[in-house]
Amino acid sequence: MGSPMPTTKGDADERLALVRKVLELERKQGFQDRAVIGGLEGFISRHLPEGRELVGGYRAADLARRAQALERLEQLLAELEGGQAQPRELHQPIEELPGVGEKRALLLKKLGIHTIEDLLTYFPRRLEDRSRRKRIGELRPGDEVTVTGTVKAKSRMRVRPHLELIKVAVDDGTGFLFAIWYNQPWVWEELRQGERYAFFGKVQSRYGELQMENPVWEPAGADFYTGRWVPIYPTTEGLTQATLQWLIQRALRRYGRVIPELFPQELRRRWGLLPRAEAIKRIHSPAGPEDYERARRTLAFEELLLLQVGLLLRERGEAGRALPVDRKLLEKFLAQLPFSLTPSQKRALAAIEEDLKAPRPMLRLLQGDVGSGKTVVAAGACVLAISAGAQAAVMAPTEILAQQHFLVLRELLSPLPVRVELLAGGLPQKQREKLLREIATGEVQLVVGTHALIQEDVEFSDLGLAVVDEQHRFGVIQRAALEQKGRGTNILVMSATPIPRTVVLTLYGQFEVSVLEEMPLPRERVRTVWVSESRREEVYQEIGELLAKGEKGYVIFPLVEESEELDLRAATEAYMELSRRFPGVKVGLLHGRLSSEEKQSVMAAFRAGEVQLLVATTVVEVGLDVPDASFLVIEHADRFGLAQLHQLRGRIGRGGQEAVCFAIADPKTEEARKRLTAFRDISDGFKIAEADLRIRGPGDLLGTAQHGFVSRLRAANLVRDVGLLERARAAARQLLVQGVPERLRREVERRFGEELELLGV
Ligand code: ADP
Ligand code: MG
Repeated sequence: MGSPMPTTKGDADERLALVRKVLELERKQGFQDRAVIGGLEGFISRHLPEGRELVGGYRAADLARRAQALERLEQLLAELEGGQAQPRELHQPIEELPGVGEKRALLLKKLGIHTIEDLLTYFPRRLEDRSRRKRIGELRPGDEVTVTGTVKAKSRMRVRPHLELIKVAVDDGTGFLFAIWYNQPWVWEELRQGERYAFFGKVQSRYGELQMENPVWEPAGADFYTGRWVPIYPTTEGLTQATLQWLIQRALRRYGRVIPELFPQELRRRWGLLPRAEAIKRIHSPAGPEDYERARRTLAFEELLLLQVGLLLRERGEAGRALPVDRKLLEKFLAQLPFSLTPSQKRALAAIEEDLKAPRPMLRLLQGDVGSGKTVVAAGACVLAISAGAQAAVMAPTEILAQQHFLVLRELLSPLPVRVELLAGGLPQKQREKLLREIATGEVQLVVGTHALIQEDVEFSDLGLAVVDEQHRFGVIQRAALEQKGRGTNILVMSATPIPRTVVLTLYGQFEVSVLEEMPLPRERVRTVWVSESRREEVYQEIGELLAKGEKGYVIFPLVEESEELDLRAATEAYMELSRRFPGVKVGLLHGRLSSEEKQSVMAAFRAGEVQLLVATTVVEVGLDVPDASFLVIEHADRFGLAQLHQLRGRIGRGGQEAVCFAIADPKTEEARKRLTAFRDISDGFKIAEADLRIRGPGDLLGTAQHGFVSRLRAANLVRDVGLLERARAAARQLLVQGVPERLRREVERRFGEELELLGV
């Protein structure tokens, strides 16, 4: 502490504050000229002579004129209040702020603060309640309060070679409080005996004394660090919280009034935003939590709005082309399906058809819980593109999934004159070359492969649609790569598990979204049991009974790169042990080291029922569609993410039969425990996704590439601000229709440019 305190305001400031109050009241009352007795004109000529001309004839003017006049007055006021500061000075390097030398500047830069404006828009992480005050005589251990008293005595002692203790006795007439600091020698110099100070900290009772360890302190009456709600900022080593708080206040006093508005006045009013300068001031010096939250919401809204504008601006403006879709082929396709589409499947397909027919490239996200029937929709989309004479590509994240998509799609499309091929990894050179040629000439109309399809040298004759099966990796499609394959290619992204609404709106902000809401097959809720390792035996007994009844299912082991060898061994051992344990049952083993043919034959055997129990590593984790599988054991379930667990569970009971999932785990962290509890208790995929976001926090959930985005969001909170985000998106769309002002574009670039680049959008 001990930094200079904010100065008290001078007379001039008080005069301006009075004018400000009156102007605010006048605005609030709707320009009725009733804010002051005698009218605004007289008041202004007395208190703000500089603005006399601006209010001439105020009383006689109509409302619009009055509003105009008021706005000019407010501007003038802000200029006067801002003193010499100019808006452009906000872009000065942070070193221009008195109190910031070379060393502090470096520390601030670590926090991403390079300019005065960066400092002003460096928002607190939370608010600390230091507003409660107590007399020493009323203190109870555990109180977190501000106490004011006189320093009666000081002592310092070396407790251990590197541990010095400073102890100060504080007296307020009702008792003594002892404040203690460790290794903070400057406290000794700065705290003077006989002077009055305010202390904030947690009260403890030790050795019969009331103590505060490392309290925050300042001269009594300063009311800056104590006695009020204080914003707490994320900081970095070497830069104390107090210094940061003080620097921000200093910047606010100097430049707070010249912070420009970003958005048109009309937009602010419509969405109930505080003036920007006001919001920034309040978030740094709020009267209390409500005030803080109000300011935060304004700033969060702005931030999200900017991000949405950024995403929407990058919506590809380049003309794609309208695909001459032939509906007859789709109808033929639908007619031969063994089922009819659910209403939301129909809606999704209709939307895709419109997208394809429109001249701009499609960018659509297809969401739905496990088993909601995304594959058929994707197949229908391919049929539409192919009916227009174009090609389609379907990409999956793993070879096995590509393989499965291929089998399913080939089957679904078999009644149509459409050639479907799999571009698998392990193809012999000759075959691969032939296939590549046939893709290049357009003989192959639908190509299935892994995401490598777009990275490798695969050339299409005319790629009209790319379907990307994304799995858990949010937003990592390589649009840049895709676009090289064909300009204006239509893109349909399928997410394996539902994505939280907030994530959709940020990372997929420029996507249209189709959601499959209902489950096509009435599904029994899969019974989920979480057991500890010590009860594994019971689980396998139950599995034995299920096998005896002829049921089939999976035992899944985690497999992560770092411990791949170990994981593989665990799966292999389990495979051998289970083969021994259930001699009458055919057990299969599936993992990523097998060749493509080996994998295929194991899967085929499992599908056909020859293999009844399949031991697998997570290379096969998701998407496998063997409808009659009815049980699942997940070993080391604590090592899986929540979305992954939910995906795995989605592998069973797909035919509508009863199914059971055992998660075996002794979680070692609180987070893992929460994850397993959520997994056990929640069956709805969308709720699972929300829980995942809550438990992990957005940064983690989105992965490193997207992390930048989240850390750029200073006021907004992706977990809590769903409503705000939706409104921001609506506002962004409006803004785009009206035209985005240049300074807004620049602000988007300044704040999110890099991240938008990273996303490849
Ligand atoms: P997911 O959304 O998890 O990818 P799938 O596309 O694999 O779901 O579909 C799950 C199962 O439901 C598949 O066996 C599929 O054939 C079936 N299915 C899809 N749509 C329907 C429908 N409208 N009516 C009946 N069954 C359907
Ligand atoms: Mg699927």
